[in-house]
Amino acid sequence: MQEPTPKGHDLIVDDDRTSITVPALKQAILDNLFYVVGKRAEVATDMDHFMALAYTVRDRILARWLTTKGDYVKHHMRTVHYLSAEFLMGPHLANNILNLGLQEAVRQATSELDLDLDLLIKQESEPGLGNGGLGRLAACYLDSLATLGVPAMGYGIRYEYGMFHQTIRDGWQVELTDYWLRYGNPWEIRRPQADVEVAFGGHTQSWRDPFGEYKVQWIPGEVVKGIPYDTPILGYRSGVANTLRLWRSEATESFYFERFNSGDYEGAVGAKVFAENISKVLYPNDEEIRGKELRLQQQYFFTSCSLQDMIRRHQNAGHAIENFHELCVVQLNDTHPSIGVAELMRLLIDIHGLGWDKAWEITSHTFNYTNHTLLPEALERWPLPMFGSLLPRHLEIIYEINARFLSALRERFPNDEDRVARMSLIDEHGERYVRMAHLACVGSEHINGVARLHTELLKSDVLHDFYELWPEKFINVTNGVTPRRWLAVSNPEQTELMISKIGQDWIGDLDRVSQLERYAEDSAFRADWRNVQYAVKVRLTQYIANTTGIAVDPKSMFDAQVKRIHEYKRQHLNLLYILTQYQRLKKTPGLEIPARTFLFGGKAAPGYFIAKLIIKLITSVAEVINNDPEVNQQLKVVFLPDYNVTFGQLVYPAADLSEQISTAGKEASGTGNMKFAMNGALTIGTLDGANIEIREAVGHENFFLFGLTAAEVAAKKAAGYHPHQIYESNGELREVIDSIVSGQFSRGDRNLFRPLVDGLLNTDPYLLFADYQSYVDCQDQVGKAYSDQEGWSKMSIYNAARMGRFSSDRSIQEYCRNIWNITRFGVDAPQAPAGK
Ligand SMILES: *Cc1c(COP(=O)(O)O)cnc(C)c1O
Repeated sequence: MQEPTPKGHDLIVDDDRTSITVPALKQAILDNLFYVVGKRAEVATDMDHFMALAYTVRDRILARWLTTKGDYVKHHMRTVHYLSAEFLMGPHLANNILNLGLQEAVRQATSELDLDLDLLIKQESEPGLGNGGLGRLAACYLDSLATLGVPAMGYGIRYEYGMFHQTIRDGWQVELTDYWLRYGNPWEIRRPQADVEVAFGGHTQSWRDPFGEYKVQWIPGEVVKGIPYDTPILGYRSGVANTLRLWRSEATESFYFERFNSGDYEGAVGAKVFAENISKVLYPNDEEIRGKELRLQQQYFFTSCSLQDMIRRHQNAGHAIENFHELCVVQLNDTHPSIGVAELMRLLIDIHGLGWDKAWEITSHTFNYTNHTLLPEALERWPLPMFGSLLPRHLEIIYEINARFLSALRERFPNDEDRVARMSLIDEHGERYVRMAHLACVGSEHINGVARLHTELLKSDVLHDFYELWPEKFINVTNGVTPRRWLAVSNPEQTELMISKIGQDWIGDLDRVSQLERYAEDSAFRADWRNVQYAVKVRLTQYIANTTGIAVDPKSMFDAQVKRIHEYKRQHLNLLYILTQYQRLKKTPGLEIPARTFLFGGKAAPGYFIAKLIIKLITSVAEVINNDPEVNQQLKVVFLPDYNVTFGQLVYPAADLSEQISTAGKEASGTGNMKFAMNGALTIGTLDGANIEIREAVGHENFFLFGLTAAEVAAKKAAGYHPHQIYESNGELREVIDSIVSGQFSRGDRNLFRPLVDGLLNTDPYLLFADYQSYVDCQDQVGKAYSDQEGWSKMSIYNAARMGRFSSDRSIQEYCRNIWNITRFGVDAPQAPAGK
């Protein structure tokens, strides 16, 4: 169906209904409770009250939302379309209240109704539609796009089941399904009139039309329907609300009924199951993708829906298809939507009747590709037979793109067939694959990495051939995070203290946080800073007691490593230090070290055995240490289950020390590192990802650096790395490893942790042993530094005050300037960025 074209008349807003005075808010909450939720106050649960409040807030977003949409159309604004298989948004309520500027009014209104606002906020189950960093980045970028008034839309999948919930049983991770829609989602609006159809399978037919033009028709085997669900994304006090449009797959009536009426009941049901499966569940794998057909279906489904939607809206606004790339720009968040390159070609040629050359001109000026990983196993490729049977027309188009690309390549680099084979869109070594990163590179105007080192490694290594061919395509945009969610919402105590000294403009313009620097030398302010930090740690302490039963001391140093569990992130290196300290304390009772609480959190991909074994080792070490009265005054180890955005909001502000200890050259950027430092944590880290830039920004003297550089890691591997020799020659390391193997942490079972330990002794691909001594020495320095509380507070304030660059607002301004060529911003947005 067609979405109606905008009529252009001004929206009439009923002032009484969406007024933001306290009495109006109270009345609205009660009205929504009665008329929308269908409950009387006497019997309403906390969840009912949350819903009533959420609708009350949504009502106050709607006028901004519809006005924003209308403005973009009316002013023919070039619009960014951020395509991402994941959006890890986190709960919306508190963020929307902040961005609307309603914090005080809502608190007053709820309190006058005898409601506990914080309790209501906790009722919201977060849409866990992402695995980790990549999905969370998309969410931070949506926040910044709306805040800066950039015409933009997010496109993704409305998974029915999000990221699994993690519980710990007997020390092991156990996964529970995440049916996040159980109580309904008050933020989304289903828009069935804007549905689109997406085809799969079947075959193609070609012919010459009367003018001799080559034509192709795709006769699909299945057709499904994509239904958009829209969520408003408010800017921080910008008056702008952009849209996050997530697609749900459903059966098309025609396909369903045709089979049903012809007596093919099973076929009809099968078609329905096929259709509904596509948006059913998020794949819980961070970094690694294997050739799962359903995953390819998901990627094609949401990409096709989004491109069709873009074309329809472009044409409905009265624009010619030939100008598509002038008004529409697409950012590919990793290769997951990169099938879009072939899909846009198909739509332009087969559906809209353009010739190849014009279609390619439009396509190659529409897309831009963000690479997110340096791990070779995470580069997506699809087995050719599977790809061809699911998307036969796209495979033809990819062959044609490839033929033209390779012939241009041969012209540029004659007699270099090795290069041609390396760069081809088809991997022909053994079993044949479609290389999605190559498709993205060939079809995009710009290619970007997500931190300076990462972009350099793309150029010199992962995408070196493409860099030699098209150096001008490559650009760096270092990631950022939104200070709205990650400071103002999650750390109200620190936010309040900062506002009392430097006002609140920094929330919308984080460069201004540098005004805090001069307070680092003010001892009264440092005392306030410590009091705030202590209060935040008390909050987390209570949460730890409630969820794990473990009592920790908020006066101890909170040393946190929360992120996906992965060998390259090296949670087990952290453990090696903990065990080193444990051995030292056992040998020398009463050893003077500052008390530390080691906090871990993070999910392992369900099929990633070693990652799950690392969780088991953390929980096993925790059990022994926490119950050993000889050491448990000085050491505590806690594994907090079910790490997600909601929990992140609790833990990032409470950390004293942030563990960013990946093997150099493996972490593309990291964003957790930024959230911690913004909240005043000091970092112990390697020269990896954005750590390098964070260290430069906060000052080398305010950052604990250890370990090999990326170049040293590469050299060591090339020269032949022998972890066993390090084990032999390092007494403390040997004792730690031996203690694990002895069964000390596995109730005598000497085999339980063998796969982990043997991996380290034999190959140690992430060089834990090579970095061990450097890490231990550095951690000892951290301990000394923490004993000097005045010195530590100074460093903490300098960290918080120098993180302005790492606001996602800065990242988005760079995308606008260097990649999207977007210079016009929201009509009313007060914060249109000035070119620097
Ligand atoms: C920020 C964030 C991440 C990314 O953390 P890294 O330390 O950069 O890997 C992952 N998950 C959640 C829930 C986050 O908020």
